Amino acid sequence: MAQVWLIGRPVAHSLSPSMHNAAFAKLGLPHRYEAKETADDQLAATLDRLRRDDILGANVTIPHKESVLRLLDEIDDEARRIGAVNTIVSRGARLIGYNTDKYGFEKALETQPRRTSSADGFPFTNERILILGAGGAARACALALLEHGNDVDIANRDPARAEALARSIEVDGRRPQVVPWPRGREPGDAIVNATPLGLGGEEAFEDVQLPKWVIDLVPTAEETPLVKRAKATENVTVVDGLSMLLHQAARSFELWTGVPAPLETMRAALPRPI
Ligand code: NDP
Repeated sequence: MAQVWLIGRPVAHSLSPSMHNAAFAKLGLPHRYEAKETADDQLAATLDRLRRDDILGANVTIPHKESVLRLLDEIDDEARRIGAVNTIVSRGARLIGYNTDKYGFEKALETQPRRTSSADGFPFTNERILILGAGGAARACALALLEHGNDVDIANRDPARAEALARSIEVDGRRPQVVPWPRGREPGDAIVNATPLGLGGEEAFEDVQLPKWVIDLVPTAEETPLVKRAKATENVTVVDGLSMLLHQAARSFELWTGVPAPLETMRAALPRPI
């Protein structure tokens, strides 16, 4: 039996183990996905164990997606462009970093039933989109949105981190713009919550009038307050964090196992229908 780990903090609430373990069982694979609560000062030692033990790889989540880059042996081109790794594949003692968050984000948007405005099925082009957060997930979303021809605003609790994101991500000469926290302002055409706000019952975009698209990355068993408000607001399309979770997980599964992920089995392991 080989293991796959989820490395982050906090990870106790994570829905990933049930999805991946259902997928392994469905395909008769003798693997096990386990959450490993990992503080900052334990990250290097945890990666050393990945090199030594019988481990296929790992997911990396909050707060390690950026800091893990310097501890890996190789980084896939897209993960390097994003500046964040959420998936590690072990090849013997070598650890290779990938990013499947961008794929998951794009897929979650492309599979929304409401409308498509571009040939590739991505629903936004030439729109102004506000991302709350400047961590690994925000980086993946910002790159995806810029690549699809949109303008991106970034607001973060720590503005210096938002500035660093804006300096390091660029598509055809366009970069994200750093803006103040959006209290009481018009947010643009769409908003993305790429912070954990919502996990503890808070509302990420409190006092903000909701635009026509609301994307909340927080993947929780219960809908977040933001998702609930957006669903109760007329003419707002909501993309729930579970949708991105499903698609990024499927891509990670394929990187570890080399076989197509049983998407419907993974979807059925989620706590709510999406
Ligand atoms: P990171 O640790 O890389 O970044 C965390 C971000 O959240 C930073 O911008 C941080 O701000 C901000 N933040 C943390 N706590 C607070 C707070 N109390 N108030 C305001 N801002 C806060 O994490 P990730 O980018 O990996 O994850 C961000 C969120 O996105 C998580 O909730 C995660 O679960 C979710 N996510 C969901 C995915 C899905 O598939 N649905 C995939 C990836 C992420 P600062 O810089 O100021 O510390």
